Parts: sequence; C-alpha cells; structure tokens
Amino acid sequence: GRPLDGKVALVTGGSRGIGEATALRLAADGAAVALTYQSREDRAEQVVKRIEQAGGRAWAVRADSADPEAVWASVAGVAERFGRLDILVNNAGVGVLGPFEGITLEDVDRVLRTNVRAPFLAAQAAAGHLTEGGRIITIGSCMAERVAFPGGSLYATSKAALAGLTKALARELGPRGITANLVTPGPIDTEMNPADGESAEMQAGLTALGAYGQASDVAATVAHLAGEGGRYITGASIAVDGGFAV
Ligand code: NDP
Repeated sequence: GRPLDGKVALVTGGSRGIGEATALRLAADGAAVALTYQSREDRAEQVVKRIEQAGGRAWAVRADSADPEAVWASVAGVAERFGRLDILVNNAGVGVLGPFEGITLEDVDRVLRTNVRAPFLAAQAAAGHLTEGGRIITIGSCMAERVAFPGGSLYATSKAALAGLTKALARELGPRGITANLVTPGPIDTEMNPADGESAEMQAGLTALGAYGQASDVAATVAHLAGEGGRYITGASIAVDGGFAV
C-alpha cells in the first residue's frame, strides 16, 4: 500500500503553488484530499481533475481564509464529505511586502486574518476531528527566521506567530497522539514569488544553494511529516529553504 492510504487531508490554498504541489503529493501517497481556494476555481478544479485522473479522491471548496465562517465550514465540510480528517495543511497565505511606514491598517488586518487567524481557527476546528496519528502541518516562512532584507515587517510578524502556535499545539495535542509542525520554505518558484521576478536573483543569492526551490520540494517535506516518518516529530520547525536562514 501507499503511505497515506485511508487518510483524509485538507490543504488550504491548494489551487496553486505550494498548496497545489502538496495536494498532488498527498494524493499520490494515497490520501483523499480536500483543497480550499479563494477565487481561482478554474485552477482548483484542475487540481481535482488531475488527482481523479490518477485514480484518487479530491474535492475543491471555495473558502476565503480571512473569513472565519468559511474556515469553519471548510473543515466541517471535509469531515462530512470524507467521513474523517487526519491531516490539516495550513498553507494558504498572502505576502504583503513593502516599507514599514506604508503598511496600512487594512494590510495588517488582511494579512493577520489570512496568515495567522485562519491557521489558528482551522487547527481548532480540525482538532475536533483528528484522532491518534493526526497531523497539523503549517507553512511558515524563512522570513520569520532571518529577515535578510527590508520590507518584511508585516509578513515576518504573521509568519513568526505560527512558530508559537505550532509549539503550543504540539503540547496541547501531544497527549492525543497528534503532532503539529511548521515547515519554513525559502524562495520557492510560484506565482507569489516567481523565479524570474524582480528580486529573484537577490533572493537566490541569499540562500546557501544559490537557487530557488520548487513547490514539490516543500510538498516532499509535508508528505514526510504526514506519513509514518513524522510519527515522532512534533513542535518542530523544518526549513526547506536552500539554506536561506543559515
Ligand atoms: P501562491 O500565491 O502561488 O498561491 C497561494 C494559494 O493560496 C492559492 O491557492 C490561493 O488561492 C490561496 N489563497 C491565498 N489567499 C487566500 C485566502 N484568503 N483564502 C483562501 N485561499 C487563499 O503562494 P505560494 O504557493 O507561493 O505560497 C503558499 C504558502 O507558502 C503561503 O503561506 C506563503 O506565505 C508561503 N511561502 C511561500 C514562499 C515562496 O517563496 N513562494 C516562501 C515562504 C513561504 P487562489 O488560487 O484562489 O488565489
């Protein structure tokens, strides 16, 4: 059998980028996968189709992470549709970079709602469904480990909060055999941070490997944590950043 046969996963922001690669990888490992998206229904349905064509089970649900009702409904919806929930991947996120002075109250609210409040609420909702062997995996950022250039005040604030959440969840849910971990990507080639973008050369130069990573690199670590290999890993922060934070 495959490592995740019989498991059910929810990947937030699974329509593109790291979330898409993660949804495809968890499905290839045998999990039934639900994925949320904000607006790109076309892309979300493409991911579902690819999983189904490979013989897997998938479901796309529109759920704006900034909206708590939508977050709760997506978690309840997966558990209802697939009958259980084993793996939550908090991936959906927004990157607002720019000079500290220029960050607006609206920016602060939108980024904290999406990057911090949503993972908190999703974990809380998921905890009611997860059983022994359950997994909560959250996507942070290397920018919370090493703020190597200006403009990251809001983004780093949001991503740093996830380390506290992860450690607290590890303590809280450990007695139930549920793990919680953080994965911190470096520059990964996605629509959020294209490898041919304006600051790409600068970002690549800040890594030890001197290069961007692929979404599948992050997905591979999420898959490891989700499977048997993650059994004794909890409260950890695992960098998939090419050495950005070194
Ligand atoms: P992309 O912008 O390529 O994709 C973002 C995904 O999240 C899409 O599926 C998008 O849905 C979804 N999403 C965005 N906002 C919301 C929302 N409010 N509600 C629901 N879904 C939403 O991003 P990446 O794949 O690059 O990033 C994924 C995660 O990895 C983020 O948390 C990001 O901060 C983190 N990260 C990325 C790095 C990088 O270099 N790429 C580096 C470090 C961390 P839709 O398609 O509908 O818009």
